[in-house]
Amino acid sequence: MTTSPASIPELNLTTEKTATETIVRCTGRITSATSGLFQSTIRSLVPETKTIVVDLTDVSYLDSSGLGALVGLYLSAKKANCQLKLINLNQRIKELFSMTRLAQVFLAPEEPVRERPSSLTVSVNELSKHYSSPEGNICALQQISFSVGEGEFVAIVGPSGCGKSTLLKILAGLLAPTQGEARLRGTPITGPRHDIGVVFQSPVLLPWRTVLENVLLPVDVQRQRRDRYVKAARELLSLVGLEGFENRYPWELSGGMQQRVAITRALIHDPGMLLMDEPFGALDAMTREQMNVELQRIWLERKNTVVFITHETNSPS
Ligand code: ADP
Repeated sequence: MTTSPASIPELNLTTEKTATETIVRCTGRITSATSGLFQSTIRSLVPETKTIVVDLTDVSYLDSSGLGALVGLYLSAKKANCQLKLINLNQRIKELFSMTRLAQVFLAPEEPVRERPSSLTVSVNELSKHYSSPEGNICALQQISFSVGEGEFVAIVGPSGCGKSTLLKILAGLLAPTQGEARLRGTPITGPRHDIGVVFQSPVLLPWRTVLENVLLPVDVQRQRRDRYVKAARELLSLVGLEGFENRYPWELSGGMQQRVAITRALIHDPGMLLMDEPFGALDAMTREQMNVELQRIWLERKNTVVFITHETNSPS
């Protein structure tokens, strides 16, 4: 039995029930504008069926909100003992999945998934941080352990005050832990390193330097030869969509463009780990969503290991 479709301009969903499963055929784009409809339509089927097959043949695009919706659906279906299967994913969506843990959940073993890297880039072991203050001892982190594989994109999400910035500062080598340790490619992080790129909420560009000179700042600070990095800087600027802006000054750029320069600057040494601390938090909602999608694209292209810190659940993880 095929039910009438749920539809808004960008996404059309048709539901077909058979004796054993419910098939949801999707046409269009699953984005922040449509993921609500996608999620509510499928969620409403969970209590009444054992298997839901989501056919993505005609889905041309899936953004971070779409990925978030899939994770939410997977968790609620699992809780209700319902199996959620995705079929007919296009190459781009497979590529997106294969770089995240969604691949293990949704892609069948015979699907061509890129080998998951076995080597760990970041390992955090029993990390604790206490601050002393006039009010007494503040425990910002208590025995945190996790690891991040080469090329993974990991988002750390939590409310204000839960210790995210403290963790980031320790990973960046700007703060020493009270206990435990963090390692990058096997070496303990004990201070700032050139193989760790950091992007903060504010782009912090030097106003008297051009875009290209801002990107080359870490090269100048470390007294390395500029000529070795100019080509890479230009290529990275092109990757983030700033080709032609190399000789502009920061004040000639929008907030989103400035943040792209900051990302480029953090990538100039091809870091083993790119740390991002609420990097789009100061941008308006539309630019933020656009930058989330851009970041996904850059990450798919570059495959740098990224640790992304945010208090938002709608970020590009
Ligand atoms: P988040 O980034 O998640 O908002 P923080 O890492 O900034 O969290 O802070 C975690 C806790 O540690 C908070 O209770 C905060 O008040 C406290 N804290 C952070 N930095 C300091 C500091 N330098 N001295 C004392 N307390 C601090």
